Amino acid sequence: MATEMHPDVSEILFSEEDIQGIVRRMGAQISADYADKNPLVVAVLRGAVVFTADLMRAITCPMAIDFMAVSSYGEGFKSSGVVRIVKDLDTKIEGRDVIIVEDILDSGLTLSYLVRLLESRNPASVEVAAFLVKDVADNTPAITPRYVGAHVPDEFIVGYGLDFAERYRNLPYIGILRPEVYKKK
Ligand code: 5GP
Ligand code: MG
Ligand code: MG
Repeated sequence: MATEMHPDVSEILFSEEDIQGIVRRMGAQISADYADKNPLVVAVLRGAVVFTADLMRAITCPMAIDFMAVSSYGEGFKSSGVVRIVKDLDTKIEGRDVIIVEDILDSGLTLSYLVRLLESRNPASVEVAAFLVKDVADNTPAITPRYVGAHVPDEFIVGYGLDFAERYRNLPYIGILRPEVYKKK
């Protein structure tokens, strides 16, 4: 299928077909690792929703799903690591195997906060599946996810759930947003 590129996107990094292949591989890894378990997959709203919807259909072991919504304090693109829980889990996770699903890991501060928060509730285990990890030269991410889909350059990424000002989440591919688009705001 030919993908029509949005005019605000300068480059497509991963097409729908690329994404399908990545998700299938991650689903197979998780299915093997949790074959005899019943993990709780925790999607971090809103960015991880598209990825989670695909990933869960690539997981063959029993599993359940729940959602969390968080917001970073502070404006702009950089997260401060101070996270406010906007929506907490409805599921008790004591003794459960938890897999946190995130769209993109940049500094890793958001995820390291979430991992610590969920670990304090005495689950059997907590692992992270990040669809994207941003390669930032002068920056060591605060956490290392167990499952990683792909690496992206230090640009502003949109599509496949990832937004800028709530736009572009519906693009079926992963692309780089033209800097003109966010710098004029
Ligand atoms: P971190 O705490 O790892 O620095 O930031 C992670 C969060 O910031 C992600 O879950 C995502 O919401 C947002 N984020 C970081 N980089 C990008 C990006 O390139 N594009 C978009 N759309 N969101 C990003
Ligand atoms: Mg996110
Ligand atoms: Mg966002």
